[in-house]
Amino acid sequence: MKCNIKKIITYMFVTVLIFILAGCGSSLSDDDSTASRRDDWGAEATDETTEVTTEVTTEKKTEEKKTEEKTTESKNESKASSSDADKSDDQADSGSTSSSSGGKLIVLDPGHSNVVTGNTEPLGPGSGEMKAADSAGTHGTTSGLTEIQLNFQIATKLKAELEARGYTVLMTRYDNDTAISCSERAKIANDAGADAFIRIHADGSESSSSSGAMAICITPSNPYTAETYNSSRALSDAVLNAYVASTGFSSRGVWETDTMTGNNWSTVLCTLLEMGFMTNPNEDSLMADTAFQQKMVTGIANGIDDYFKN
Ligand SMILES: [Zn+2]
Repeated sequence: MKCNIKKIITYMFVTVLIFILAGCGSSLSDDDSTASRRDDWGAEATDETTEVTTEVTTEKKTEEKKTEEKTTESKNESKASSSDADKSDDQADSGSTSSSSGGKLIVLDPGHSNVVTGNTEPLGPGSGEMKAADSAGTHGTTSGLTEIQLNFQIATKLKAELEARGYTVLMTRYDNDTAISCSERAKIANDAGADAFIRIHADGSESSSSSGAMAICITPSNPYTAETYNSSRALSDAVLNAYVASTGFSSRGVWETDTMTGNNWSTVLCTLLEMGFMTNPNEDSLMADTAFQQKMVTGIANGIDDYFKN
């Protein structure tokens, strides 16, 4: 019996061993199929990666759209807060200097810089015509001021005046030594979503008798930003009229031209104010005078107020 049991145990052991060995064989083929599955996974992974990439791109686009929406929203909000501010001004009757400024963003552009690169840039977006990107401007034959300095003095005082009236103000340069091209100045206003882009300049002439102030805006057929013509023209009229009323300078009118790079690149309403002639001894001396500068600043700010009231 013992012998039979041993034989049976041995037989079973051998049988089990054979099954185990057979199982190993099948597990090898599983490895193969695992390998092929890995390839499949690889392919799937690639597809998934592609899908993920597509999704990420779609998400990015969605995010971009959201950002755009947010920008639009914040603009609407600022407009809403603007009308709220109007209401509160009306209700409070607090003697506020302006009821039209709330939430408005003004970008002031003091013309020229001490740093002149000598580079050129397109006259407008997509234009093949190249124009000097920057220049030093004119200078005061009596005051000794450079136009760079005068423009910056007026823009800095105008910034304070506008902020006191409730506007938010950015400048295209905050010192006299920053190199910046005309199109770059406009892009600051565009990127900020400015409600108005005001360019501050003074004139120069070979004749010391040339005098008066002038505003420059685009023509109705401007090839780059014609859609801003009506508002730019109205802004130009408002600023020039209020400026000459405050300073007593003569008005040379609004010059409509499409030769100004900074105006052409501006996607927001834009005016360039030539405040007076630095080559005219009378105007130059006045424009360099601190008390008179306040008249200039008050005039420009009144013009901006007038524009937004209408
Ligand atoms: Zn200038």
